[in-house]
Amino acid sequence: MPEPGYLRVADTSTALAALTQYGRSARLIAGGTDLVNLIKEGIERPAVLVDIGRLPLDTVQADGNGLRIGALTTMSAAAGDPALRSGYPAVVEALELSASPQIRNAATIGGNLLQRTRCPYYRAETKLPCNKRQPGSGCAARSGYDRTLAVIGWSDACRACHPSDLAVALVALNAELTIHSPRGSRTVPLAAFYRLPGETPERDSVLEPDEIVIAVRVPPSPAAACSGYLKVRERAPYEFGLVSAAVAVEADGTMIRDVRICLGGVAARPWRLYEVERYLVGRQLTESVVREALALALADARPLKSNGFKIELARRAACRALLELRGRGAVSK
Ligand code: SF4
Repeated sequence: MPEPGYLRVADTSTALAALTQYGRSARLIAGGTDLVNLIKEGIERPAVLVDIGRLPLDTVQADGNGLRIGALTTMSAAAGDPALRSGYPAVVEALELSASPQIRNAATIGGNLLQRTRCPYYRAETKLPCNKRQPGSGCAARSGYDRTLAVIGWSDACRACHPSDLAVALVALNAELTIHSPRGSRTVPLAAFYRLPGETPERDSVLEPDEIVIAVRVPPSPAAACSGYLKVRERAPYEFGLVSAAVAVEADGTMIRDVRICLGGVAARPWRLYEVERYLVGRQLTESVVREALALALADARPLKSNGFKIELARRAACRALLELRGRGAVSK
């Protein structure tokens, strides 16, 4: 395999010009914690690596307009930011439950949101049928191992899950991405950023090849400050989750005024439970009410042959995460 070319850029406009020049054969690199592995394994074969690691996109700002995290902020720097720790605990917990300390020191927020799936067939050393890796080649998971794959939103072409914990927390908090391209700037809600696989699973998101994610913005809300992230893994240290739940609540006394629930590990994108949220608003944050509400969750799920357990596991994770918020001041007596 020929080694890719390498281009280090010092500003966003030069990076955009490189993407325009090289098109789909170029890949942006910063922390490199996912991309380098994909290149080593022959999954990605870029002709040119555009190193954006020195662009000034590594600051965190929090004020009355909410939170803004530069896309090149490392995961550990974001998790250690005092404003995030006090005002957006779900984001901090999702970051701290991701990967290892060494990876979090190098990996960036933008890279984390754009990491590729952990489907074992996509990552396999031996090339196996995988429509995400090689469009039109098939899907080895169709008759193979599917325990960790999606239970909802999947297609015959692909059953993979999105792997980012951070994305789940950010979707729960209504985060948006700021994206730059040669055509200007656009804002995309993170909930609309990731694509379900359909017939084109090779495309994980709506990001175009000539676009760069510049920052994540989280709007201000009382619920963000009373939020949490719960991840269920088969082994606690350094393991991708089976399912996860990001939750946030604003209560008026004991009554829920605003609630957000987003599941991870169930689909190709973070799965927000809007119907459950609507049910809970105006009700009490009690175990019986939350259990009743979560019975509505994933009603349209289509589990694969060995991952049906994820449906109840995800409901229970969301239930526990919500009830734990009572100990964080979500309700007052
Ligand atoms: Fe590839 Fe998706 Fe099938 Fe996994 S589930 S083998 S990523 S096509």
